[in-house]
Amino acid sequence: MKAIVVGAGIVGSSVAYRLAQAGASVTLIEERRVGGGTSGVSFAWVNACEKLTSKPYYDLNFAGREAHAQILEEFSDANWYHRPGVIQWQGAQPEAGGTDGSDPFQKLKLLQEWGYPAESLSHDDLRKLEPELNPDVVGNASVIFYPNDGWCDAVVYAGSVIGGAIERYGLTLVTGKVVGLQVHRGRCEGVTLHDGTTHQADIVVNCSGRWSNDVAEKSAYQIPLAPTVGLIAYTQAAGVKLKRALRTPLVNMRPDGGGRFMLRSNELDKLVAAESNAVPLHPQAQDLLRRAKQVLPVLGPIEVEAVRIAIRPVPRDSYSAVGPVPDLSGYYVVVTHSGVTLGPFLGQAVTDEIVHGTKRPELSEFRPSRFFN
Ligand SMILES: Cc1cc2nc3c(=O)[nH]c(=O)nc-3n(C[C@H](O)[C@H](O)[C@H](O)COP(=O)(O)OP(=O)(O)OC[C@H]3O[C@@H](n4cnc5c(N)ncnc54)[C@H](O)[C@@H]3O)c2cc1C
Repeated sequence: MKAIVVGAGIVGSSVAYRLAQAGASVTLIEERRVGGGTSGVSFAWVNACEKLTSKPYYDLNFAGREAHAQILEEFSDANWYHRPGVIQWQGAQPEAGGTDGSDPFQKLKLLQEWGYPAESLSHDDLRKLEPELNPDVVGNASVIFYPNDGWCDAVVYAGSVIGGAIERYGLTLVTGKVVGLQVHRGRCEGVTLHDGTTHQADIVVNCSGRWSNDVAEKSAYQIPLAPTVGLIAYTQAAGVKLKRALRTPLVNMRPDGGGRFMLRSNELDKLVAAESNAVPLHPQAQDLLRRAKQVLPVLGPIEVEAVRIAIRPVPRDSYSAVGPVPDLSGYYVVVTHSGVTLGPFLGQAVTDEIVHGTKRPELSEFRPSRFFN
């Protein structure tokens, strides 16, 4: 089987890796650079605990967590997955497709019923885990600890699995912009690139995230999207001890390597203009820094060093869209929020469907067909 995968973010790299491993002859086409889309601007918390609005969506994300552990076993030198735990306290804003987190008791109870590693953390234990946290910002809030949660360096992941697929399974990586599908009599037979060259395949898998409708070109093949803007501020390197990720009403923050911290907030994201300049003096970046210093006063003189802004690839109803579109054979689309959590799972599930013809039940609620009459 010849397969084309469009987009080398965390989703496309996972799909390309698994397809190539299953014996397909895979060409991965990337316009910019590996991980150069939304995957490079992500908080990248691998979790299912923020996905409580629907059990199938929770299960899908839980499978995502498990699949991260599986793919790690295939790379003895893997350095992209960090699991020091995540600490959350009351009042955090919801993620797209997530819970509002407003009732920590209910949330913890539900998560424990569903088998998620989550526990209540006393304020004493919180102080022991993260002694530099300002206790005043926690107040008397209930604290939840996810001891096995963490984050994935999505660009490192994508580069590693693509490298692995090239070395082990002969994947071809092409730099170029796909400008359209080649469709004949209801069948997708390949893609056309910006320079007029064409690539033929038995199956085209569109993993181009927020740009997926540009690739699909024709409205009949497009997934309605409701993208949202996200801003991440990166601090200067700071000699402070915070080890775990924090999800708090003020700011979400976590270490980002080399002493830097990554800062973001759903509340502030709503104020960010997509076309605004991603510079350290960006007003929402400065607000994030101010909030981070409230949470961690030891940040003291630390400034914002860099800012990145990205658009989340979110289907209109906020849930993943994974599968063929009606009336077009040879074409398969994967567009989703939570792609860092889901990437490794989707790689395997999409391969099972395309190469082995096995319909994965985890995807049954998330078919693109729901958007088409
Ligand atoms: C601020 C923020 C915080 C987030 N936090 C989390 C989180 O905590 N946990 C989580 O799981 N998810 C999180 N997400 C969501 C997650 O980052 C995305 O769902 C995920 O990165 C999407 O990956 P992708 O591979 O589908 O898309 P992308 O990473 O955007 O990859 C698509 C690729 O396609 C390429 N491309 C586009 N058009 C073309 C074309 N015409 N031809 C060739 N190539 C093309 C692009 O260059 C890009 O490299 C967050 C997102 C943001 C913005």
